[in-house]
Amino acid sequence: CGVFGVFDNKDAAYLTYLGLHALQHRGQESAGIAVSDGYDINLKLGEGLVTQAIKDEDLQSLKGDIAIGHVRYSTAGGSNPKNIQPFYAHFYGGAFAIAHNGNLVNAKEIRNKLEKEGAIFRSTSDTEVFVHLIAKSKNPPPAHVILHKNDEEFIPLVFDAMRKVKGAYSLVILRENQLIAVRDPYGFRPLALGKNRSGSYFVASETCAFDIVDAEYLRDIQPGEVLVIDDAGMRSYFPLDETEENTKQNYKCIFEFVYFARPDSNIFSDWVYEIRKEMGRALAREKKIDADVVVPILDSGMLAAKGYSEESGIPLEIGLIRNHYVGRSFIQPVQEIRDLSVKLKLNPVQQVIKDKRVILVDDSLVRGTTSKKIINMVRKAGAKEVHLLISSPPVISPCYYGIDTPTKEELIASNKTVEEIREYIGADSLYYLSLEGMITAANKYKQKGFCTACFTGNYPVL
Ligand code: 5GP
Ligand code: SF4
Ligand code: MG
Repeated sequence: CGVFGVFDNKDAAYLTYLGLHALQHRGQESAGIAVSDGYDINLKLGEGLVTQAIKDEDLQSLKGDIAIGHVRYSTAGGSNPKNIQPFYAHFYGGAFAIAHNGNLVNAKEIRNKLEKEGAIFRSTSDTEVFVHLIAKSKNPPPAHVILHKNDEEFIPLVFDAMRKVKGAYSLVILRENQLIAVRDPYGFRPLALGKNRSGSYFVASETCAFDIVDAEYLRDIQPGEVLVIDDAGMRSYFPLDETEENTKQNYKCIFEFVYFARPDSNIFSDWVYEIRKEMGRALAREKKIDADVVVPILDSGMLAAKGYSEESGIPLEIGLIRNHYVGRSFIQPVQEIRDLSVKLKLNPVQQVIKDKRVILVDDSLVRGTTSKKIINMVRKAGAKEVHLLISSPPVISPCYYGIDTPTKEELIASNKTVEEIREYIGADSLYYLSLEGMITAANKYKQKGFCTACFTGNYPVL
């Protein structure tokens, strides 16, 4: 998913709409905007792309200076109109709206407990436990935190919710007079802070959303940080006990660099473009192939292919053309639709491929179904040899932190050896970037501390 927030701008809803556009790649199932005019919070939620979910006339009616927004694809909870975010709630402490990127690992437990106590849930999403935990909290803030007077009532409730949930959450919370940004102590998902020339503040999953609203990237929200923005300024709190096991450690999702984030974004204070290309260079150092042409599997394989081509000296050609009127195929939750959309999405260029030894480069191999079809297509277009290079290691385990990898059974690398996968997809050779190669590529640009659980099965929190 993608989240966005803006504080102190008369066009808050419109800027959120633009920001969500830039984050569209993070979720295409639904979109929503919540706006506060200082007294009241109003929402518009809809299914589909941002342009389908929210119309011009909706924006006219969303008046106010503070807003948050969300684009969603289903990880926890399934695709269901009830799960469209932001979620809105009203309780004794006032009204608030919340939007979440990530996935909680103990949401079921918390939910069962709350339901037994009489709580009524209106969605199947893990995000809703935040709403209930905030509304029910009775606990005082931790002793080491000194609160600004504006924060004495609501903010401790957020702290308390953070203490109870486990897993991945980058949150934006809207109150009548505040914008709040929260990142889990592991730092799984990105969340950045920006500011424009007239002094409006922005929060977004990726900095590409700042570019579209002419805001400048200031810094990341830190793991475990609660950032509060209101008329009194900006305050940051670190409420989780610093001695707690995982606090202050870093488990940034490396898959964001491999695949998920946009290459023109800065996430985790580094540029996706550089790191993704470096992964392709690393691939070329690890695996040399005698071939005529390097062809990216667009769009996600583009930069790794570029890196591979530069490092190996084999020319890069756009031998597969992408139809841009079809979305990311995996985001369609139904298998039949996904199958069809591969063909709709990519088509080989005969002139590039015929009689050539082709190296195809992709960012990741998940189910193997797309790759199999593409290789078949490229062969039909007359390739002499087809080699597939993947700029990440085999995906062997599902993600529980907010990326929609399928179940273990559907992950081809959890059931098959590399040689069996090669045979299944019909490639002349198949090579994956090593785990070390991937991590080193990301580290080359000063990054440290990644979650690699989908590649290793080592989950930082369960
Ligand atoms: P496959 O050959 O595994 O079916 O598809 C691989 C390609 O699709 C890669 O380009 C990868 O970016 C994308 N992809 C396919 N399925 C998924 C999925 O379930 N989750 C993610 N994150 N990416 C996927
Ligand atoms: Fe990212 Fe994989 Fe970790 Fe999920 S399991 S957070 S996709 S690295
Ligand atoms: Mg792809």
